[in-house]
Amino acid sequence: MESLLKKSRGIGACDFCGSPEHIFTKTTCPQYMSQHPKVDPSVVNGKTYPMWGQFVEKSDQFVGGTLEDFGDGMDRRLGMENTQTKITSIKLKPNGDDSAYFQVEGEDFSCGFDVQYGGIAGGEEGWITFSGYMGHKWRMKTSE
Ligand SMILES: [Zn+2]
Repeated sequence: MESLLKKSRGIGACDFCGSPEHIFTKTTCPQYMSQHPKVDPSVVNGKTYPMWGQFVEKSDQFVGGTLEDFGDGMDRRLGMENTQTKITSIKLKPNGDDSAYFQVEGEDFSCGFDVQYGGIAGGEEGWITFSGYMGHKWRMKTSE
């Protein structure tokens, strides 16, 4: 049925709007674009956070990869061991009315921070290492 419909629209027509002037992709079809306005993941509470937004945009590369938590300063003094889990999603979400919370979610636990208090730290090659509240250190790696 679906293939008949495509055939009736002619070879090379847009699958979304049927126009013969373009082949459907999310960026060539004006009708698709007007019905699906692009949501910029780096905009939260009206502010733009390009560095954090890029991780959300590239989250496909990290989903299935590894999230490792070293704990905060207190955890380390108490002898907490590093724990690892598989990354399931990366989010940048509102935190209160005027800040944003960056979160990497995993199967067993999640790590994150308010972007005002966390950042990227130096670390081992192949990993992206973060530091948040109270010296909380954690890192993530792509799924390869
Ligand atoms: Zn179209």
